[in-house]
Amino acid sequence: MKQFLQMTLAGQTPKATRGHTAQLSWQWHGHGLLELQPHQPPRRDLVLSAAIHGDETAPVELLMRLLDELLSGRRTLAVRLLLILGNPPAMAAGCRYQQLDLNRLFGGRYPQGATGGAAPVEVVRARELESVLQAFWPHPSMRPRLHYDLHTAIRGSLHPRFALLPCQPRPYAAELLAWFPQAGITALVQHNRPGGTFSHYSSEQFAAASCTLELGKARPFGANDLAEFAGVAAALAAQVSGDFCADVRRAERELQVFRVSQELRKLSPDFRLAFDSEVLNFTPFPRGSLLAEDGETCYRVEAAEEYLLFPNAGVRPGLRAGLMLVPQPFSALLAS
Ligand code: ZN
Repeated sequence: MKQFLQMTLAGQTPKATRGHTAQLSWQWHGHGLLELQPHQPPRRDLVLSAAIHGDETAPVELLMRLLDELLSGRRTLAVRLLLILGNPPAMAAGCRYQQLDLNRLFGGRYPQGATGGAAPVEVVRARELESVLQAFWPHPSMRPRLHYDLHTAIRGSLHPRFALLPCQPRPYAAELLAWFPQAGITALVQHNRPGGTFSHYSSEQFAAASCTLELGKARPFGANDLAEFAGVAAALAAQVSGDFCADVRRAERELQVFRVSQELRKLSPDFRLAFDSEVLNFTPFPRGSLLAEDGETCYRVEAAEEYLLFPNAGVRPGLRAGLMLVPQPFSALLAS
């Protein structure tokens, strides 16, 4: 299974779909889908996914390095681990997606398009990833469930590394929150409504402690400075080997927490952002600032100050073209 990435990119099926090493057994579940199980009883169930957006390559390189360490026995596996490379055809083509943004489709949020034609490739893949999670987590379990969905952002950011937490009706797991500072993450963003992201799906359907990680700027394969990702790599490795100690107080001291205050939704092709396209994520705007216009609709800052995230006027109408954030206390994440 050392050729996992190459086979995934080439769309090849391995000759053997399961095997074992001295400390673990592995099973290939499909293109870009590999489960590892330690011979010892696991402490938790962990899903690590990358390349849900095909051109976000640095996290793939991180996961492949981790896989190599596990298969060679240089690193101990203390968890049941499911590795997911989200969108292999887009990875091979070096693009974010082929037909639809995969990270908007989970939980059955498939656009109702023309009938009769073949389903878009990303719709087929979203269904496949949903059933792989279902097979990995078939029954309620006493073991903690975690899901880190690894991404890199398109634009620069005042917080180079940050995490997005799905909207969920229960408190966020202390174990999840405590892990972030170890990974060099400095900001958290709590969603205020359900969405079609992979991490929302795993949180909602399987009660997993889930997050979307934004780990830096997207670059092509081989052009990533992996030193930039060393903190995240070490923190993921510690999670996989079960040797990190949860320190929620450190997370409370070090993390800046935001929640989504409003969404800039693209209603029509006339949608225009009102600021420079190079503006960084987490740039603050004062009350009253014009953010975007879309025909008769104007989006303005409503709170004393709101922070911009993921502005992108290029999405298709009906989707969000940006998020606005307001600060909130860390303690809100632990309250039910
Ligand atoms: Zn992404």
